[in-house]
Amino acid sequence: MATDLAQFAKDNGVKYFMISFTDLFGGQRAKLVPASAIADMQEDGAGFAGFATWLDLTPAHPDMLAVPDPEAVIILPWNKEIAWVPGNCVMEDEPVAQAPRNVLRRLIDEAAAEGMHVKTGIEAEFFLLTPDGSQISDEYDTAAKPCYDQQAFMRRLDVIREISDYMLELGWGPYQNDHEDANGQWEMNWEFDDALNTADKHSFFKFMVKTVAEKHGYRATFMPKPVEGLTGNGCHAHISVWDAPGSAAKTNVFAGTGEGQTGEVGLSERGKHFLGGIMKHASALAAITNPTVNSYKRINAPRTMSGATWAPNTVTWTGNNRTHMVRVPGPGRFELRLPDGATNPYLLQAVIIAAGLSGIRSKADPGKRHDIDMYAEGHKVRGAPKLPLNMLDALRAYDKDKDLKASMGDEFSAAYLKMKHEEWNSYVSHFSQWEKDNTMDI
Ligand SMILES: [Mg+2]
Repeated sequence: MATDLAQFAKDNGVKYFMISFTDLFGGQRAKLVPASAIADMQEDGAGFAGFATWLDLTPAHPDMLAVPDPEAVIILPWNKEIAWVPGNCVMEDEPVAQAPRNVLRRLIDEAAAEGMHVKTGIEAEFFLLTPDGSQISDEYDTAAKPCYDQQAFMRRLDVIREISDYMLELGWGPYQNDHEDANGQWEMNWEFDDALNTADKHSFFKFMVKTVAEKHGYRATFMPKPVEGLTGNGCHAHISVWDAPGSAAKTNVFAGTGEGQTGEVGLSERGKHFLGGIMKHASALAAITNPTVNSYKRINAPRTMSGATWAPNTVTWTGNNRTHMVRVPGPGRFELRLPDGATNPYLLQAVIIAAGLSGIRSKADPGKRHDIDMYAEGHKVRGAPKLPLNMLDALRAYDKDKDLKASMGDEFSAAYLKMKHEEWNSYVSHFSQWEKDNTMDI
């Protein structure tokens, strides 16, 4: 029985609902709806002009409706008269196929039909900058190796503590917070969950972090490489697959001792093939996990000030070693270290499932395990593909990967490629200082 949002408002003193959907670029768009109007909206959805939604719709399309998912409603911990609720996009009674939350829901159903329920945890790193975004907010946060800096932490305790308190209140099971490897960079971890719940929490986390930072006079950014020369914002995903969703999950179907090198690090045969799918589709995957021009400043970065980029540039996997694209830190799960802070929370989960399912269906082999320090010895690896060097390469790799494109949905893939190519064209048509500096006197 779905939650009745009108009753929910009465019971909890909620005066407004923010009905939100996520566009193809990962932006969140919303309408604020008084509780007195929520009963009709729960039925019919909140209306949006299609052309304005960044879902590749034209001015001629009929209204796009975001129908709130009542199971995902969250009362804003910092303003309890308002509740945020993600919507599922519908047009003329049909789901909008390219809408990111719909893409994910479809893939979750497909995996469930094969007895697989993906659970993930994510590590959404962010920077706290000055309001204009030009500098790190803490002028004293200048250490060359600032990771876990206790004193710098105390200077931003108010922000981090407030967000952590909210996550505790929401029951997300937050368990640690730290100053990350770049000056001004932070990471906050909460418990893993079913893929759709993690995507909703990821979206809400970004909204919450930005809001709390603004309240304290700062600007939070998840931009992949906001400061040249410093470590970028990753969004590592920890992935496991279970026999049932939610608390009904009893058996981790990735855990086991399958054959070969994956078995040695505690992955079952299904875990091996799922990983094989991630490896096989890695270059195409990057179009989703690393979706911006700026993303490629992170994954192909020269060594940062701290001495490590913490980002991969080659398609390799290993055991408990952070210098590879995939790390298997312990039995039954693996960490994909490719995604960055610009990834769309819903498409991130969707593409992991799509690649994994493809791997399982084709019994994909993840290839050799490389137990080396990739930062020091990466040049010795033969035959492992390099990740795309820029967004255009990634879009082309995605376009060439017919299997992944179809699995993500033909309508989605066409819309995504079209809009991202437009973004690339906008980027290459802008004139930069670099061109002048390097071309003027030729
Ligand atoms: Mg981190």
